[in-house]
Amino acid sequence: MTFSIHGLAVSRGIAIGRAVLVASSRVDVAHYFIQPEEVEAEIARVRAGRDAVVEEIARLQASISRMGPKEAPTELAALLDVHLMLLQDEELVSGVKHWITERLYNAEWALTTQLEIVARHFDEMEDAYLRERKADMEQICERVLRAMKGAQSSVVQPAQRGSRKGSQQDLLLDDTVDVPLVLIAHDLSPADMLQFKQSVFAGFITDVGGKTSHTAIVARSMDIPAVVGARTCSQLVRQDDWVIIDGDAGVVIVDPSPIILAEYGFKQRQGELERGRLQRLLHTPAVTMDDEKIQLLANIEMPEDAQHALKAGALGVGLFRSEFLFMGRHGKLPDEEEQYQAYKKAVEGMQGLPVTIRTVDVGADKPLDESVRDDAHLNPALGLRAIRWSLADPAMFLTQLRAILRAAAHGKVRLLIPMLAHASEIRQTLAHVDQARAQLDRRGLAYGPVQLGAMIEIPAAALSLQLFLKYFDFLSIGTNDLIQYTLAIDRADESVAHLYDPLHPAVLRLVADTIAECRAQGKDVSVCGEMAGDVTLTRLLLGLGLRSFSMHPAQILAVKQEILRSDTSKLAAWAQRVRTAEDPALELAGGYV
Ligand code: PEP
Ligand code: MG
Repeated sequence: MTFSIHGLAVSRGIAIGRAVLVASSRVDVAHYFIQPEEVEAEIARVRAGRDAVVEEIARLQASISRMGPKEAPTELAALLDVHLMLLQDEELVSGVKHWITERLYNAEWALTTQLEIVARHFDEMEDAYLRERKADMEQICERVLRAMKGAQSSVVQPAQRGSRKGSQQDLLLDDTVDVPLVLIAHDLSPADMLQFKQSVFAGFITDVGGKTSHTAIVARSMDIPAVVGARTCSQLVRQDDWVIIDGDAGVVIVDPSPIILAEYGFKQRQGELERGRLQRLLHTPAVTMDDEKIQLLANIEMPEDAQHALKAGALGVGLFRSEFLFMGRHGKLPDEEEQYQAYKKAVEGMQGLPVTIRTVDVGADKPLDESVRDDAHLNPALGLRAIRWSLADPAMFLTQLRAILRAAAHGKVRLLIPMLAHASEIRQTLAHVDQARAQLDRRGLAYGPVQLGAMIEIPAAALSLQLFLKYFDFLSIGTNDLIQYTLAIDRADESVAHLYDPLHPAVLRLVADTIAECRAQGKDVSVCGEMAGDVTLTRLLLGLGLRSFSMHPAQILAVKQEILRSDTSKLAAWAQRVRTAEDPALELAGGYV
């Protein structure tokens, strides 16, 4: 039966495909596709994990049987029998094999997927005793997962399948050949999302998350339809259900009727045509009708993204979120050489265009690893994140600074510091940059000049602009956090997403003042938060004086189209009206005349 689920629209377009559910587990589980020739080895890994748990249980049983009848814990003995029985459960064993063989899931993914299916069957059982065995099943699966993790000698590198079409794997996918897949999960960390980059998924849905959560940002950078904050979606949808994602409306339609499918198929083709039309603007300079030149830059997460940035017509990278190099590394952070190579790759990839590298911004909704996700802190968004984290670990910070400075020998590099608020933090940061240079001098390593910039993403920073303008060559407005901190709305929390408002007069005032002050002092200023790539806000930002926008490459052409149709001389007065209106959204919707 068809039903729909409403969430938040985070990445445009329509995706139609079969659901792939990623089960959440208390154990940190990697999800990736294997190669067909790895199927046997992957099945063997699950078997080895299961055998290890069977042995563990047998050892426990043996020690119980050595106890005298008085001290032997009979309940535990009975429980171990149940666990042994569940480990042989036919539905579990054959299901795991199915996901590995037919869908090429890695062993852990196959096990958690099947666990979820089996767990639902337990939920549906009439008998209360049997229903309670669900917890046992979960326990033994977690033990198997842990055993598999322990047996793993090195970090598993996900083998991504570039495209399913025409690939060898298709032969193994039988009825699913060429059927697009959409990924559904309760939650995905930004590191998970990165793993799914270049994967086969046609769209993403998560139960939790806000519009500018980092998971949503990565989905947007992949330019595939996505909905977050879909609440109970991962519970309502079942593996292999047909699903439509309407990324523009933030709606998920499950098990659509043929009429609905046809309607969305039409919408999908219309969207593709529109994107095709935009390609004509690729080589057109971003100049307004009154001849104002606008700089369109790209936000990237990995060095390889530089090529997408160039292809999309970006005139440089306005934000390289370097923290993505640090995530999902199981505690082993990239050393100076690895970072240097990564930054150099991005710099060389941009072929002489400037690359703005932001120092790590981990913490809050960007944990380094799932396993170290720091829920212990009551309020991680206000905690040790970004520059605070860097200054708390000077060795790590200096390593990154040296790597960036060395990469600057290969092209134009701008160094950007996130989340600054205090003069003392600014002074400490600058001292670290000097120290990194001195260390490179001592080692005789080449490095290049960098322009130094600060992100304006804490209201306190926006309200102390003179301090920032004194020390920095350029400023970049991080509207995602600026909105979060101005309005006290967690950007990753879907339950308050309706209050996350880029058009709140307070936010507009901070953005407008920052732009105006930078312009008055002849300093470069750009917006690199999601506002920059939102076509409904392009004219407003132009009217407020913004001339440099940094966004995901996929949004560049649509923003350029707005710029080509704009006349900044007519926008300034209107933008001030919007900024000072009681309800700026209403004023904005009225358009400028
Ligand atoms: C921002 O806060 O607007 C920004 C660009 O940084 P991030 O989204 O990575 O926090
Ligand atoms: Mg930020």
